[in-house]
Amino acid sequence: MALIVHKYGGTSMGSPERIRNVAKRVAKWARAGHQMVVVPSAMSGETNRLLGLASELAPSQAKSSYYRELDMLASTGEQASSALLAIALQSEGMDAISYAGWQVPVRTDSSYTKARIESIDDVRVRGDLDAGRVVIITGFQGIDPQGNVTTLGRGGSDTSAVAIAAALKANECLIYTDVDGVYTTDPRVVPAAKRLGTVSFEEMLEMASLGSKVLQIRSVEFAGKYKVPMRVLSSFTPWDIDLDEEAKSGTLITFEEDEKMEKAVVSGIAFNRGEAKISVLGVPDTPGIAAGILGPVADANIEVDVIIQNISKDGKTDFSFTVNQGDYQRALELLRDKVAPALGASEVVGNQNIAKVSIVGIGMRSHVGVASTMFRTLSQEGVNIQMISTSEIKTSVVIDEKYLELAVRSLHTAFGLDKSE
Ligand code: ASP
Ligand code: MG
Repeated sequence: MALIVHKYGGTSMGSPERIRNVAKRVAKWARAGHQMVVVPSAMSGETNRLLGLASELAPSQAKSSYYRELDMLASTGEQASSALLAIALQSEGMDAISYAGWQVPVRTDSSYTKARIESIDDVRVRGDLDAGRVVIITGFQGIDPQGNVTTLGRGGSDTSAVAIAAALKANECLIYTDVDGVYTTDPRVVPAAKRLGTVSFEEMLEMASLGSKVLQIRSVEFAGKYKVPMRVLSSFTPWDIDLDEEAKSGTLITFEEDEKMEKAVVSGIAFNRGEAKISVLGVPDTPGIAAGILGPVADANIEVDVIIQNISKDGKTDFSFTVNQGDYQRALELLRDKVAPALGASEVVGNQNIAKVSIVGIGMRSHVGVASTMFRTLSQEGVNIQMISTSEIKTSVVIDEKYLELAVRSLHTAFGLDKSE
């Protein structure tokens, strides 16, 4: 007997029939003798619908009192889907009970709309499990030290599930979703992309942070920190498929680097269209330039990703970096109005039509020449590289957005990732 956490995404919970399917699947696991905890998302579209109602009444305001109410509101989506799942399980003849985050409680800090989980009390849940109940816990939410309802940020149910699995020391956390696993790259861009049977936790972290939208990145960080075995699998298989077969399907996120290292040097190609580039031109090349530019950017709470500083010429240099599209205007204005005049820079220019493409693989640690294969492949396709950044297990390049698909496809082939038909 194992303690298993299942997480079901919004699409999997999208209608009464789908909820019934989830209930039948969960009942199958429980009847096989496992202790089951289920963490559902809101029914698909529900969180958007709720937040849409709020913005009809008042446009987004940077006020804590407003964000507090957004969390009160958005958290109801998961409360409804959890209760519906409990009802469906009961109608399958199972003993089931649902809890909102605050009832467990799932304790978080007070950052409304992007709260972080601090601790999870397992007493109540364990009591139910020991009494043979299936326990359903709302995803995406918790309670702060003052007793306010908080939410964890969009896609946060993944993180709830992994955190609950960690708190209960579950044997595995299964993330059921509308795709059947983690792919070498987005199959919509490269039809030859293949599903990975396993991916290391570190690779998954890179892929999740690089824009592969399968999992909320914080859930992967949590899994890494607490060594929670985690699997991504499809909720669209028939609910009554053989349990052992289901338990091995999808993609397992592993902590062991075993034989995999010898197999593929590059495990996946990730990409991100969501960044923009800013260049500060003609800054005097003196000590403190990077701090002078990036300090105020960090103070404004704007995250910076890839950075380059050009070689200086006549005592002047150009400095470029990327930020999220959502922060682009704010960063540009800050640099134009405050930073550039203070540093004596000649100009600040921006470009939103860029994309970042990255090759990811723990095999890169033990192989040389991987990055150069990447650069050669791109040059053969006539793709100009604007910026480069590397870490132990990934190399990223920033290119013109219009070459994104070409770049991803050619790299996928060059690193031997295409599916053999
Ligand atoms: N319902 C929330 C959202 O749509 C959380 C989740 O689904 O993970 O973002
Ligand atoms: Mg999701």
